[in-house]
Amino acid sequence: MNHQQIREKLTAFHDPELPSEERLEIAKHLESCEDCRGVLNRCEHAAKMFSRATLPKPSEKFVTGVMDRLERLEELTPAVVERPTPFLRWLFPAIGYGFALLLMLIAISNREPLIDTETVLLADTPQKTQWTFSKEMPEIDTLLNLKEDV
Ligand SMILES: [Zn+2]
Repeated sequence: MNHQQIREKLTAFHDPELPSEERLEIAKHLESCEDCRGVLNRCEHAAKMFSRATLPKPSEKFVTGVMDRLERLEELTPAVVERPTPFLRWLFPAIGYGFALLLMLIAISNREPLIDTETVLLADTPQKTQWTFSKEMPEIDTLLNLKEDV
């Protein structure tokens, strides 16, 4: 690795995932390169500062400050929000109702005429069919419709 490549890897110097050969190579370069040593020192210093930094404690003042700002925003927003919708306010429901009405009209026009069971049964019955009662025993061929009626 040259100086530039090592510079790019300096932030990973303490990373346990850095291969040990690379760490050795960097360490060797650091002995001779003051520039890279300085960069590493600054990195280590910054890391130390971050690890020492504590989260800001929740304070009453912060909460009331945020709430005040929210209230002020709410006072400002209605004027901003109301402007662009004076006619859209009725347009959307109007479209909705119009569409519902259209669907109803389509449904009504497509509705098939009501047919009750009796009509269907009578319509399906062939007109020439008749019941005949006779004491005579019909021939088997007649029964099976193989012969024309006698
Ligand atoms: Zn260097």
